[in-house]
Amino acid sequence: MRLITIICGLLLAIAPAIAQKSSPHHRVAKTIATPLSTHDCGHNITLHLSTPEPTQGSLLLLELRSVTQPVTGIKATWDSREIPFWQEPKPNEKSPAVWRALLGVDLELKPENYALTLAAKTESTEEIPCSATIDVKEGKFATESLKVAPNFVEPNPEQLARAEAERQRLRAIFATITPDRLWDGTFHYPLTGVTTGGNFGKRRILNGKAGSPHGGVDFPAPAGTPVYAAQRGRVVLAEPLYFSGNTVIVDHGLGLYTFYAHFESISVQPGDLVDTGALLGKVGATGRVTGPHLHWGATVNRARTNPLQLISLPL
Ligand SMILES: [Zn+2]
Repeated sequence: MRLITIICGLLLAIAPAIAQKSSPHHRVAKTIATPLSTHDCGHNITLHLSTPEPTQGSLLLLELRSVTQPVTGIKATWDSREIPFWQEPKPNEKSPAVWRALLGVDLELKPENYALTLAAKTESTEEIPCSATIDVKEGKFATESLKVAPNFVEPNPEQLARAEAERQRLRAIFATITPDRLWDGTFHYPLTGVTTGGNFGKRRILNGKAGSPHGGVDFPAPAGTPVYAAQRGRVVLAEPLYFSGNTVIVDHGLGLYTFYAHFESISVQPGDLVDTGALLGKVGATGRVTGPHLHWGATVNRARTNPLQLISLPL
């Protein structure tokens, strides 16, 4: 798996170079075909989507700007989920108020059109409705075959019961939306010296049987390599789990969680408020693994998304 991961990393690194070589004519055609990502809600309010056509496993940044009247709150739903918005501090009195939200597209969400609907509350208590269509495209994910210890593919009843109980706990954690935004600024790689990562969303065949898709990014690293918090947040889980081994989950607020797995040792406790770059633990090979590496995941409003997109978003 280590070799496969490294190969994927190289492919990712090569991709931008290939894109730059596309002809100017091709780029113009693509620009024309791209649907509008800014929606006029009326009343001098606009809604901007970082992309109107995300692929499975993507993260979108939504921005709502009101020029003439202050917006005091936003209620938004997408795919039957409530999308929490936060208000950015205004740089000066004349600049319009900006509200932002993160929208996660689960890596297995059926590719089709989904309506984003919202109501912006204003000081005059009038609610201004706005909507946008988000056209989810199929993600291009590779398939890989892995050989792992048999008990991780066909667990015995006791192991199955433990794994199922842990799955329910994780579901409950990811369904909890902490109302405060705990992160502050851009997200960082959880390991020093890495600039990319591969294998997110890979469909996996484990010992010849179809497994669930890979919900994170793997970074191969020697056991003992320090792992750092990608941003500020509160530790909500720090313990060994059946599949992910020694695991740490950080709640960044507003439904955003980062997930760190297979640690050799854990350096934090549940309840700890950690800053960006705080030591969470050390790379190991605990749980379902083929060698030492860090598995890094990002969940937004229960949607499993590519954590590398967190780094590229201007948060
Ligand atoms: Zn992994």
